Parts: sequence; C-alpha cells; structure tokens
Amino acid sequence: MNNTKLTSTAAYQQADAAHYLHPFTDNGALGNNARIICRADGVYLWDTDGNQLLDGMSGLWCVNVGYGRASITQAVAKQMDKLPYYNSFFQCATPPAIELAQTLTEVAPPGFNRVFFAGSGSEANDTVVRMCRYYWQLRGQPQRTVFISRHNAYHGSTVAGVSLGGMKGMHAQGGPLIPDIVHVRQPYWYEEGRDMTPAVFGHQAATAVAEKIEEIGAHRVAAFIGEPVQGAGGVIIPPDSYWPEVQKICAHYDIPIVADEVICGFGRLGEWFGSQRLNIDAKIMPIAKGLTSGYLPMGGVLVHDDIADVLIKSGEFAHGFTYSGHPTCAAAALENIRILREENIISRVRDEVAPYFQKRWATLESHPLVGETRGIGMVAALELVADKASGQRFNFVPGAGVRCREHSAAAGLIMRAVSDTMIVAPPLIISPAQIDELVAKARQALDALANEIIG
Ligand SMILES: *Cc1c(COP(=O)(O)O)cnc(C)c1O
Repeated sequence: MNNTKLTSTAAYQQADAAHYLHPFTDNGALGNNARIICRADGVYLWDTDGNQLLDGMSGLWCVNVGYGRASITQAVAKQMDKLPYYNSFFQCATPPAIELAQTLTEVAPPGFNRVFFAGSGSEANDTVVRMCRYYWQLRGQPQRTVFISRHNAYHGSTVAGVSLGGMKGMHAQGGPLIPDIVHVRQPYWYEEGRDMTPAVFGHQAATAVAEKIEEIGAHRVAAFIGEPVQGAGGVIIPPDSYWPEVQKICAHYDIPIVADEVICGFGRLGEWFGSQRLNIDAKIMPIAKGLTSGYLPMGGVLVHDDIADVLIKSGEFAHGFTYSGHPTCAAAALENIRILREENIISRVRDEVAPYFQKRWATLESHPLVGETRGIGMVAALELVADKASGQRFNFVPGAGVRCREHSAAAGLIMRAVSDTMIVAPPLIISPAQIDELVAKARQALDALANEIIG
C-alpha cells in the first residue's frame, strides 16, 4: 500500500484492513468495516461519518471522569515539558510518581500503604504472580505457588494474565499457560444456579474454593484471585453470600485474597474500590483503567502492609518495567484522582447516579427478550433469552448478543455483548437525562432485535 493521506472513512477502513491487526477481533471477517472513532466529549463519541454515539462502556471500562477533561490534558502537557520520562530503577524516582503513590494510599483501605507501578492491568497481574510467590519464598514456604482463580475470570492478556484468567477461548490459543494456576466455578447465578436461591448458590460457589484448597493442600496455595464483580465475563455480580464465605475460607487457611480492582476500582461500584463495596479483605489489589480514566496507560499493585513489610525487609525484588511510575502517566492519574475527589464523583455515584441508573436499567426487564437485568454501581447487564420463563437461549449465528450490539450502535449507543449477555458501564459523570437516553436506546436495540427475530 502507498502512503496516501487518509481523509475519508473509506480510506481509513481500507488502510485499517490492510495493516492493522486489531486485538480481540476476527481481522479477516472485519474487512473494510472498522468503526473509526475520531472525537469524544463527556459521555459521547463521534465516528468519522459524523455519527454521535453514547459511550455506554466508558471506552473499555476506563473513562470514569468522561472525555474532554482539559485539566488532564494540561497536567500531562506540563509534565511532558518539564520531564516527559524518567525511571524509578536504581534508587531514583520522580515527583509525580511519588505523589501518586502517596495519594493512592490515602484513598485505599486501611493497611494499604505501598504501591508498585506497572503499565497496564495485565502487567499488574504479572506482578501479582511474581510478588505473591516471592512473598511465600521469603516466608520460608516456597512450595506455595498455586493460584486459585475462577472460570470466566478476566485478568488480562499477557501470559500471566491469560493463565490467571478463566477464559476458555483464550486458554485454547497460544499455550502452554503458566503452571500452578487452577480455576473453580464462578458465582454466576443466572447461568448456573437458577434451580437454587441466590443465597444457597453463592454459598455453594464459595465452597468450591474450600474444596479446591483441600484438594491441593493449603500449604501449596499462594493466593486466591478474583474480580469483586467479574467484568469481561459478563458483569457477574456474586450473590451476597459469596464473598463473606470466600473470605472466611481464605482466612481459615491463611490464604491472601487478591482483589483485581482493574474495573471495580476508582468509583465504578460507588466506593473507591470494589473491595470496600463488597467488604472484601484483600491483601493485594491490582489497579489500572480508572486510575487514569484511560487518558494514558498505567497500572499498579496496591500492597497491604502484611505483604509489603516482608518484601521491604528482604533485599531487592528483581522486578519492574521501563515505564513503572512513568511521570507523565502519573501526572494524568493525579489529575484524574483530583477530579474524582473535588467533584465528589464517587459519593455522587453511590448516593444519586447509581441508584437512578439501576432503577432505570431495571425497567428493561419487562422486555420480552430479557430474562434478567442486574447491576451494581455503574455496571449493569441483561440476559437475552428466547423464552423468558425458562431462560432458554437463542441458538443462531451470529448470536443474539452480536446482533443486539449492532442494533444498539445503529441507535447511537455503545453496548457490549458477552455471548448473549448485554453489558454497560457508562462514565461515572453521566447525567440523569443521559441515563434516560442510554436506557431508551438500549430498549430501541432490543425492539429492533425482536423485530429481526420475530418479524
Ligand atoms: C482489563 C482488565 C485487566 C487487564 O488490563 P489491561 O490494561 O488491558 O492489561 C485485568 N483485570 C481486569 C479485571 C480487567 O478488566
């Protein structure tokens, strides 16, 4: 291909098809059909054809403070002028990285006084694997190498992220995976537990963790890892009985909980961290996404004193990334956190925005194609079903979810499909009128799907 100037949607799509390998995309099937997003403001995106779309997914669960925040742009520009980059290796640091570390421990739950920086959520989880196993080595229990995770969990796309995650489709590609990572059932009541009450099912799903520990031997287990609410798996909100029981089990066997806060952190569930909302007593919390609201890539691992104190007393942890604590990314994170605090965004989510959003979202349950709606904070899902009473799924290709997603985009709303589960996670600053718009467009998409299927 020649390097002609790209001026039209068609030209972009052609160059895209010729050169761009997209993540999580059937690049062959995509062809010249990529949607080219070129501008954003608040909760809205615009594509190169001028279509306006309400971003029901905050990008990829990350743009918590919304698009178009000039103060983040300015903080980033100022930092780049002064010091675009320096590292934190070999006894160095930069002012924004230090300030960010301090700020994060101010908003984190008690006992979290240290942070290790990474470039993404996946790198954060790579760090978790090495840090946990190393911690047990230092404690004289080097045989504690096994991570217990859940089926259908998402912990990233690096080899450690994929191995920790429980996505069948990802495990099937590009293996072998990292040894000593095992998976137990997920607390997905609608899909796996409808013959029980949610409370009984939640208790059973937690019991699977204890059974796995017994099977392996507690002396072999390094940690239990879970998202407080599974995101990419389909906004799976555990029954209230789940986390307290998991917690009891992990405490009984002295197994640290890693709460993957990459989505749930920074206000998504109406608290700074999902662990606070669900009362999870974690020892390690990987973070990313909402840390910078996606304005620049950054991740990290919040480490509880119980673990950090052991690491600090024991010499060098030979681990780190060129971009650990990147000062420009740290400047973006600092300004993002300043906005979250100054505008009281998180308490507003808890007290006003999320209750209204959940009330409006629940109205979709009356739709004939919807088997269940659910949500917590600023995440929500609905289950597409062929038969409302039995929960019988559709069985055609392309699936109902993908079709619904396309109808939704046509109506001007970005919704995501996980099989036949439709999910949304809008920016935390969405207004009541925009929530009404989101729900109306979701209903429009459901009606269009019903029309297409039933005629
Ligand atoms: C997105 C995500 C990750 C991976 O983060 P990346 O920045 O994409 O590497 C890890 N854990 C959870 C829960 C996520 O949602």
